[in-house]
Amino acid sequence: MTFRAIRVSKEHGVHGASVVALNDEDLMDGDVTIAVDYSTINYKDGLALTGKAPIIKTFPLVPGIDLAGRVQTSARTDLKPGDAVVVNGWGLGEHHHGGLAQRARVKGEWIVKVPSPLTTHQAMAIGTAGYTAMLAVMALQRGGVAPGQGEVLVTGASGGVGSIAIALLSAFGYRVVASTGRPDESGYLTGLGAGSVIDRNTLSAPGRPLGTERWAGAIDSVGSHTLANVLSQTRYGGTVAACGLAQGLDLPASVAPFILRAVTLAGIDSVRVPIGIRVEAWSQLARHLDLDKLATITSTVGLDQAFDVANRILAGQVRGRTVVDVNA
Ligand code: NDP
Repeated sequence: MTFRAIRVSKEHGVHGASVVALNDEDLMDGDVTIAVDYSTINYKDGLALTGKAPIIKTFPLVPGIDLAGRVQTSARTDLKPGDAVVVNGWGLGEHHHGGLAQRARVKGEWIVKVPSPLTTHQAMAIGTAGYTAMLAVMALQRGGVAPGQGEVLVTGASGGVGSIAIALLSAFGYRVVASTGRPDESGYLTGLGAGSVIDRNTLSAPGRPLGTERWAGAIDSVGSHTLANVLSQTRYGGTVAACGLAQGLDLPASVAPFILRAVTLAGIDSVRVPIGIRVEAWSQLARHLDLDKLATITSTVGLDQAFDVANRILAGQVRGRTVVDVNA
């Protein structure tokens, strides 16, 4: 039986991506086969689908760093046919066939059961972006940044990580400031729970090693000068969770915030996080994320529209999260 999938190829250095028909023999090794309901387009998927960065390590490959669906066959006792599951990271869509297909076969140890009350659609509305936002919030909590200590900044606010970070921080009672390059999205950002909105241009140019102390903590998906400025404006003992590079991979900063203000820079990686932390992050998302807010930030498209979304997310034109219904 065949199923639909996006396949990315690279022949003689030329990148190609299209919807094709595959069958079970095309799937890679794994002890669990999943009937995929939904995948999603993260920034990284945009890079993989367009070939703008070497995200995909083996060709041809089904892209998609996220998937949610139902177990079809399982060689494991802890996963039964019909279980609703979510998989993200672990090289999915990088060196193992990913989520932008109607079927997937993966290692059972990569799988997290979708926690109640989330549906598989909501799990993909969250996706790697939302789960990364949760990991970043957990890093602030570990760093001792508590609600009531002061403002917490979220950069890249209208994006997937930023939008869910705002909703989560506000659910936990933090006073959130959103930094965006889209001032027309202020209403959207305050609707998610931001107390105020600032222009990202105030953070994106080269700045001083130490600025005026403002942020109790921050979640940064932008990197480069923005992260350097955020660090320089973070208050004594604060924590900044760095998870992205929308402005750049560089970090033109000084050690001054670390050695003079005891600021902590917490790195966030979503791909190789141990399973226990994943389960904790998904369970906190299920408990704390406002699902009405999640619905307002989510659009759903079919497999054929994934290419257009990939181009738009790289151009900074996607607001919030996009779910891909692989069966539409
Ligand atoms: P999105 O494209 O949805 O969001 C990124 C946001 O960053 C944009 O919406 C925009 O927000 C802002 N932005 C874009 N370009 C620039 C720029 N040149 N300068 C400053 N701000 C900019 O991506 P995601 O939310 O999915 O991912 C965000 C980042 O986090 C990406 O770099 C991604 O690779 C990374 N990431 C890392 C993970 C990890 O494991 N560490 C996991 C998931 C994502 P606005 O318009 O509001 O300014």
